[in-house]
Amino acid sequence: MPVPVLKIALPLPLPRLFDYRAPAGVGAVPGDVGRRVRVPFGPRELVGVVAATGPADGEAPALREALAWLDPEPLLHGELLASAQWLARYLHAPLGEVLSTALPAALRRGEPVPETAVHAWVLTAAGQGAVGGLRQGGRPRRLAESIRGAAVSEDLLDDLVEGWRPAARSLEARGLAQRVVLDGPAQAGGAPALMGHAPNAEQAAALEALRTAEGFAPVLLEGVTGSGKTEVYLQAIAERCLAQGLQALVLVPEIGLTPQMLARFRARLGVPVHALHSGLSDGERARSWAAAWRGEAQVIVGTRSAVFAPLPRPGLIVVDEEHDGSYKQQDGIRYHARDVALVRARALGVPVVLGSATPSLETLHNARAGRYAHLQLRSRAGDARPPRVRVHDVRKRPLHAGLSEELLVAVRTALDGGGQVLVFKNRRGYAPVLLCHDCGWSAACPRCSTAEHPVPMTVHAGGRRLQCHHCGSRRPVPMACPDCASLALQPQGVGTERIEELLAARFGDVPVLRIDSASTRRRDGLARELAKLGDGPGILVGTQMLAKGHDLPKLVLVCVVGIDEGLFSADFRASEKLAQLLIQVSGRAGRAERPGEVLLQTHHPEHPLLQVLVGGGYRAFADAELGQREAAGFPPFAHMAMLRAEAQQAGQPDAFLQAAAAACVAARERLPAAQARALMVSGPVPAPMPRRAGMHRAQLVLSSPGRPALHAVLGAVIAGLHALPEARRVRWSLDVDPVDLY
Ligand code: ADP
Ligand code: ZN
Ligand code: ZN
Repeated sequence: MPVPVLKIALPLPLPRLFDYRAPAGVGAVPGDVGRRVRVPFGPRELVGVVAATGPADGEAPALREALAWLDPEPLLHGELLASAQWLARYLHAPLGEVLSTALPAALRRGEPVPETAVHAWVLTAAGQGAVGGLRQGGRPRRLAESIRGAAVSEDLLDDLVEGWRPAARSLEARGLAQRVVLDGPAQAGGAPALMGHAPNAEQAAALEALRTAEGFAPVLLEGVTGSGKTEVYLQAIAERCLAQGLQALVLVPEIGLTPQMLARFRARLGVPVHALHSGLSDGERARSWAAAWRGEAQVIVGTRSAVFAPLPRPGLIVVDEEHDGSYKQQDGIRYHARDVALVRARALGVPVVLGSATPSLETLHNARAGRYAHLQLRSRAGDARPPRVRVHDVRKRPLHAGLSEELLVAVRTALDGGGQVLVFKNRRGYAPVLLCHDCGWSAACPRCSTAEHPVPMTVHAGGRRLQCHHCGSRRPVPMACPDCASLALQPQGVGTERIEELLAARFGDVPVLRIDSASTRRRDGLARELAKLGDGPGILVGTQMLAKGHDLPKLVLVCVVGIDEGLFSADFRASEKLAQLLIQVSGRAGRAERPGEVLLQTHHPEHPLLQVLVGGGYRAFADAELGQREAAGFPPFAHMAMLRAEAQQAGQPDAFLQAAAAACVAARERLPAAQARALMVSGPVPAPMPRRAGMHRAQLVLSSPGRPALHAVLGAVIAGLHALPEARRVRWSLDVDPVDLY
């Protein structure tokens, strides 16, 4: 019998496991699966995860020995390891890379699983008697009242008593309060959960469906913004998870995870809420992950990569705004967090709620096919009324910085009524193009343009700087035209900066605030910016940053301008994205007691997308769009995979993809005839942006009505692609179920 060895998944772009002998001359045992281990690899050391044990592929004595175990027991095992293995197969990606994506950075580097003790504060016996003697309204008094009944964890105190730390130290110094370690989730709370709203009939139906669900149960919860979806999540988590000591995982989009949202969860659920997102330090992330791993974290709220949080005591998974583009990872391991959530929920045997006002067509299609339960919240919760939407035809009308006179009048009226206005424009900067009026030269990005496909640079900083939105390069605006030396250089088109400039000049009596990704890079940046607006009349100008997330109760008018470009895009998903964006932006208006109004300014008022959307809402749009996708053989009626390649030198991406296409065609021959006929290999063709940041780019698309045929071909060719000589001259990647065709 050969000695069993470790089969280790290493974070390398190679589709295989690596054999090592176990450290210190001990034989590998099945119980080693899931443990992290440090191994020598060439001159380097790597951290890997044991994926299997068994006889070595080659000569065992020649194998190198692993250096050291990093975990005394498996870190990744059971469902999480199985789901990662499924994902690696589905994406045709190396397991080692999937696992390193799934682990927080600190653990990926080999650091130990951190301590997760939850610290809390409670009054001592002396403190109980002394509360009444503390000054009314002072911080020590407020803190003492909060921790009088039971110990309250420190993160809850952050929400409950501003600046509580000095007060706690002063109480501690007087022997009135003490810091304790909470052990076990049952006491992790402290503050009683705040009462929720009594659910309305539709919310009650959704809650009932979740209450009675057994095992894996996917649920599409469709409801407009403000219809009370979050309220359903909160009550379902309280009932299904907290009451039974089970864990809830809540995924939110990149810009949906705000401090307000976390505070709402903490306040309502009365337990620590563990956040997992890119705004945290490596240490904080590893601690949240470890708390989930130990089963201590009962509620985990996070963005895309939180979908890999371990759930040893699973109760419920929620994917809020399931249509959101930020759930799809666009580089490295290109997973879709919603799809991973579904796979994990199935493996864990728990319900998964997909919430959205504008469900993705994939999800709607699954709901219609009966694969998901479909629950709807048709009205807004409470008394909020839906906004009135008007398509505003601006053909032949004079425009000021892209805004019509009627629109500006509507803004004035809203402001005079004490309301706030949002002007939405999907283009940052001052103007999208800088043009020479004399010779027609326009400023193009030197790193992203080709002769046939110039990529304009956007004018920023009130006309002083040029910036490329694709590669980030910047330079000053030239004094004169580089081609004809004319001084007649003119910014063309309108970006948010220019709109802000006009509005500030027109409405000097109210604050005008421009919000873009630069001003809100910090996670609480958006909240702090919005706070500047206060409660009075004012104007917000911004891009899709503003489409969702924040409650803007004073918002009475939403003006949407510059959507016309999106109406005629070549990307088959463009209509879906535009429709979702329009509905989401519109949903910002009239959230409180006042009805809101939405003005869609366009040169194409007859465009079917606008007509259907305004006349019949998102549902009507989705019906029409699904019909067209079916007729055209696009997802969700077909499954796609895209091979992308890029290189410094033109021609090389194409050469690699030609070889890849030939391999795919050869593999297709081996499929059953009917499947082979239906599987299309299209390309290679230049990418929609044929050059970016100096790299030439091309792509190859495979599509098939059924997944098995597509995956059979991918499975047959991917390993071989790594070995192609052409592969060494390009950077290439495979994207299964691509969302962006760029
Ligand atoms: P969504 O997540 O769909 O945008 P929320 O759950 O945030 O909606 O609810 C929108 C607003 O309505 C919130 O202020 C919430 O407190 C309130 N709300 C939710 N459900 C009810 C209800 N049943 N009765 C009264 N108000 C409610
Ligand atoms: Zn010129
Ligand atoms: Zn560029």
